[in-house]
Amino acid sequence: MRKKNVVLENVPVTAYAAEGKALARVEGKVVFIEGGVVPGDVVDVKLSKSKKDWAEGKAIRIHQHSSDRVTPFCQHFGLCGGCKWQMLPYELQLQYKQQQVADHLRRIGHLELPAMAPIIGATQTRRYRNKLEFTFSNKAYLTDEEIKEAGEDWPRRNALGFHIPRLFDKVLDIQTCHLQEEPANLIKNTVRSWAEAHNLSFYDIRQQEGWLRNLVLRICTTGEVMVNLVIHHEAKKEREALLQHLLETVPGITTLLYTINPKKNDSIFDLEPRVFFGKGYVEEKLEDFTFKIGPKSFFQTNTYQGETLYKVTRDFAGLTGHEVVYDLYCGTGSIGIFVSRQARKVVGIELIKEAIDDARENAAANDVKNATFFAGDVIDICDDAFFAEHGAPDVIITDPPRAGMHEKLTAKLLEVAAPRIVYVSCNPATQARDLALLSEKYTVEKVQPVDMFPHTHHIENVVLLQRRY
Ligand code: SAH
Repeated sequence: MRKKNVVLENVPVTAYAAEGKALARVEGKVVFIEGGVVPGDVVDVKLSKSKKDWAEGKAIRIHQHSSDRVTPFCQHFGLCGGCKWQMLPYELQLQYKQQQVADHLRRIGHLELPAMAPIIGATQTRRYRNKLEFTFSNKAYLTDEEIKEAGEDWPRRNALGFHIPRLFDKVLDIQTCHLQEEPANLIKNTVRSWAEAHNLSFYDIRQQEGWLRNLVLRICTTGEVMVNLVIHHEAKKEREALLQHLLETVPGITTLLYTINPKKNDSIFDLEPRVFFGKGYVEEKLEDFTFKIGPKSFFQTNTYQGETLYKVTRDFAGLTGHEVVYDLYCGTGSIGIFVSRQARKVVGIELIKEAIDDARENAAANDVKNATFFAGDVIDICDDAFFAEHGAPDVIITDPPRAGMHEKLTAKLLEVAAPRIVYVSCNPATQARDLALLSEKYTVEKVQPVDMFPHTHHIENVVLLQRRY
């Protein structure tokens, strides 16, 4: 069983591990299994890695389906990299996420835990994303059947949809996506039909040629709709005709932009979107705070659960109006602004300068006068002089990216020893690691997972740490 390429037969899948992989135990060894299997399935697994205590592989055959399975609601399920947990009832998805948070905190963090609050599930489990980005490609991903059917036409078939995981030049053509409110599908399908009818070229990422590159949609809970069409180069006549057609065909688009991207990569961060119609941005609301979102701004992609997450965070912070609150990894300042009315002062720190510009603008627009924002790396900014200048923290809110906090920052937090830390995380594994370091001075008081991304394995978790005296 130490060898690679071995096939283990009739393996009963027993649990979920991290990152959406399933787990089984074979001859005392833990086997991580990819390939969309769920606990209760019995499968054959082809191993790609096999170590002393654990192995990893892909399910190549399912002998018996778990009785927990339900029929996926999306026609693209199985190929699309999106909603991969549709075969599980939502209640069970929540249960697995809850379990994973507990496992991580115990196994990686070796932490003594208070009773964990049950994960807060979403009331809206579909059409919950405010942002989606579709890609144009002249290399549609086709199944074996479709290739047979297509005959000579293959592989020059256009697609407007999502990248196939691990195949960088292949895009799955998406007809109906359930991740975003309408008119998302109408916009996408209108653009595709027009482009096909007028022979507009879809981008070829290998050859670096073609015209249409990306279509980015923001559909807000306020009803505002922003479309940003990314093209490789200017072709004024074709561009105006396409954008005009889109405006006339789809009601409700409040702002329409286009961006010229002649670069090799898809990032529009260093490019200048141009307004074709409308004010050039949309607005999203969290409680009665308004956030301006431009084509390049970052914002929580699930507005409904974003608000829930922030409420939990504010509640854990236990504010009375007197506290100095630091908001580390603050992005566009949304958490800091959200808690500002209950704090004496908010200090936000974020690496990306443009996000800090947005944070300042958002604070001003919401008449928040007690928040200041600083651009830079948290480990450079958070030194003794900085804390001396802005005040000893009563509460530190930290919301790092998936990699978690840098060790230098956890060391600094231990030194600063604020009475409370609220740790918001999108990766409970790195969160558990950081909490273990912080356990030198802190006790885990509360744990509250929040489901931001139904039908995916992604987990968001909020932890309240209380300093021990
Ligand atoms: N709290 C925000 C955003 C959290 S996402 C919200 O709720 O919307 C994490 C943020 O950390 C990103 O905006 C990223 O740019 C920022 N970031 C990543 N590494 C950083 C570092 N070393 N110092 C400061 N900010 C960093």
